[in-house]
This record gives sequence, C-alpha cells and structure tokens, in this order.
Amino acid sequence: MTSLQLSAQEEAVERLLDAAARGDLVQVSSLLALGPSLLNRAGHSGWTALMLAARNGHYDVAQALLLLGCDKFSVNNSSQTAYDVAAFWGHRHLVDLLGRTGKGPPGSALLDPPPENYFGRETLDRLSAKRTDRVWLEVRRSDADTVYLLFSNLSPMVSGPLEDGSGSAAVETKLCRFRYEAIKDLLQKPATVLVFLGVERRKTPSSSSARVADGLREPPAWFAINTDEDTAELLTRCGEKNCCFPKTPNRDLLRFSEEEADRRSPSLRPAGVVAQARSVLAWHSRYSFCPTCGGGTAPEEGGYKRSCLNPGCSSRKGVHNTCYPRVDPVVIMLVIHPDGNQCLLGRKKIFPIGMFSCLAGFVEPGETLEEAVRREVEEESGVKVGPVRYVSCQPWPMPSNLMIGCLAVAVSTAIKVDDDEIEEARWFPRQQVIDSFRGTRAAFTVPPRQTIAHQLIRHWIAGNSNL
Ligand code: ZN
Ligand code: MG
Repeated sequence: MTSLQLSAQEEAVERLLDAAARGDLVQVSSLLALGPSLLNRAGHSGWTALMLAARNGHYDVAQALLLLGCDKFSVNNSSQTAYDVAAFWGHRHLVDLLGRTGKGPPGSALLDPPPENYFGRETLDRLSAKRTDRVWLEVRRSDADTVYLLFSNLSPMVSGPLEDGSGSAAVETKLCRFRYEAIKDLLQKPATVLVFLGVERRKTPSSSSARVADGLREPPAWFAINTDEDTAELLTRCGEKNCCFPKTPNRDLLRFSEEEADRRSPSLRPAGVVAQARSVLAWHSRYSFCPTCGGGTAPEEGGYKRSCLNPGCSSRKGVHNTCYPRVDPVVIMLVIHPDGNQCLLGRKKIFPIGMFSCLAGFVEPGETLEEAVRREVEEESGVKVGPVRYVSCQPWPMPSNLMIGCLAVAVSTAIKVDDDEIEEARWFPRQQVIDSFRGTRAAFTVPPRQTIAHQLIRHWIAGNSNL
C-alpha cells in the first residue's frame, strides 16, 4: 500500500469509530460495505467500534457489527471487552446482546448485584400506614412480643465488648432487646421519646392486617426509645453482662454483624435498624421547638412527625419539611483520571494515619447531584469533573446523612487542595489501590468495609473500567 492508501484507510477507521459512537447505523453499514478489514480496528486507547457502540448504548449498531463478524472478545488498553463497557454503563439490552453465548464473557463481576451497604439494609417492614393508627400502635406498645431498643444520648445499648484499644475488630456487638415489662416505667416519663420502627418481616407472607383467624400472630413490632435516665441505672435493667452505650458512634456503630442470628428473627440486620432509629431520635433531640414560630411541638405518627402546639402557626396548614425527620444528602465520589487507570483520593486531618478516601460533601439547595459532585471535587481538589454516574447509596446515621455514591470522570488532572477541608489529595494508580486492598505493599490505608467509600473503590477496581 502506498502512504496515500494508508492514510485513506486510517481516515476510514476514524469515520467508522465516530459513526459507531454516534449510533449512525447508515454510515457504519456503508463504511463496512467496502470490506471487513475495518471491522476490528481500534482507535484511541484500543477502543473498537463495538466498544464505542456499547459505551453509548447503540443496540442496532452493535447488532450490525456482530452480524458482520466483529470480535466481541477483543479488549481495549484497560482489558475491557465491549460487554464490560456496556455493563459498566448499565446498558442492559447491550449486555444481553453481547453476553449471548455459551461461555460467559470475562468481567461479568460487574453484573453482580451491587453490594448492600452497611446501614443500608432494611430488615423491618416500616408499615408507615400504621403510624397514624393510634389504637393499633397503643396495642402493639404493650404486646408481650414487642421489642424495644434503648438509647441514651442517642447511643443504643449493646452487648459485647467494644473497642479494647488493641485495634482488634474481631469482636462484634449486639443490640440489647427489651420487652415492654422491662421499660414500661420509662414510657411514662416526659423526656422519653418513642419511635415506631416497624414489624419483623416474616418469610411466609400472611395478612398484615389484624390477627389472622388461623391463630398466626402478627409479627413482633419494634420500637426505639431515647431516655435521659442515668445510664448506670439503665444498664442494670439488662440481665446480660458486658452491656454498654457506645461513646464514639462513628466507630462503635460499625461493629454490628451484618447478620444478627436470632431464633425469632433470623435475618435481622441490626445496622439498618440502628440507622433508622438513631436518625429519627437525633431529629427529636435537636428539633423540639417549632422552626416556624418557636412554639413547643409534640411527636405524632409513631415518632415520624412533630406538630406545632400553637394553633395559629402556619406550619399547621399544608405539608412542611419542618414537621418531618431530616435526611441530609451528601455526595461521595470516586473520581477517575482521564486515563482511566488512576483514581483521586484525599485525606482529612482527622483520618487515621495513612488513610485516604473518596471526596464527599453536602448537596446544596437547588443543586443536582451531578453539580454537587463537580462543585465539591473542584473545591476540595481543584480537579474538574465531566460525566457523573450514580452507583449506590448508604444511610449514615451520624446523625441523618444519606451518602450518595457516584463515579465521576475527571477532565483535568492538576491538584490544588482546599487546606481547610483536605490535608492531601493524590492520584493513585489502579495497581496501588489493588495492593492497598490486599494489604500487601499498601500505598495507603483503605477506609473500613462498612463505608460506602470502601465499596465505591472496590466497585471501580473490580469493574476494571476506564469509563
Ligand atoms: Zn409553630
Ligand atoms: Mg466540601
């Protein structure tokens, strides 16, 4: 071939890749009608036409390329197939198309269900419709099967030794459960706050309304109470030894087992129950007065509402977010380098030595999640971000955050940290991140597995995706 023919060939490859990325089936077909030699040619970073079609969700283009015999197992410079790319971007129809073979394609870990985040596991049925049923709630409160969790200063009473200073994380804590008889005197005290959490989920579905005629009882109801009684006094109520109230919720509340085995409610996951209870109780402890008129308020609806006692207050008409428990959205993001092979992690001064984690920040009023991600990353690290993709979220009951986990693609790489928030931010190559997870030649300490930051970083290295 002459150099003129060569450059014409290169130009045709460029046009094919461009057409595939745009989903232009007519142009893709006409370019390939000239011959199959272009079919598996790769452009920048080893991306083929099929990968670009998969990246952008163009089913018809991908289908045409496959029909023409395109190699769907070829990989780009980051070892991704078109299937990996489609899976990463959540294009289910393309995943189905590209995965249609006897043997599974590589990289199928991306199709695993996303991890359930610690604190994010709902195990009780909240039965929110019952919150306005005063009679039903009253009956459930004194039922012999009802379970009470006891909080003091927003810490739940737990059993099992807490942090012993040795750094051992092997010991798990359990929630102390109380029956009505053991705590009924506390319910009479004006400072006690009571929250209805829900009822246990039963494996065999039965009618959730009223007791069923065949003698099946309703599943046990769960309540949380916060009291200002003396803690030493409270601890004596519990028959078990080793009971206590955690002093450092940020650390101690991460020590529940993921599955608390119990004869009566085998699949109860205490972290999720604590997240719900602690956030609502924290709201009661901080919002006892009406934010509209400053008047007194009283809890209602099983502890899910506070109504102003001043009959003239405008918060009594219509729906007001001052009356309901807060949820504060926080974006937390793993920022990927434009080369796809490094991620941006930062450390705050308060972090344990050597630990780096994802950047994060509160969503502001009138802001989308994507804008919040871009603003926070630029403020804290100076890095500019383009595309943002949601991955999963996690309630964080310290006291009421909802951590919204995203992957974000950087469009600039220079780092300039905001010293007020961040001590240091760095790009870490994928291999260093993998080594740090393995604990071999660790470049940094990864955040604990109970945090969504840990899960986001793991998601990225497991997916082997450069976006
Ligand atoms: Zn008011
Ligand atoms: Mg910030």
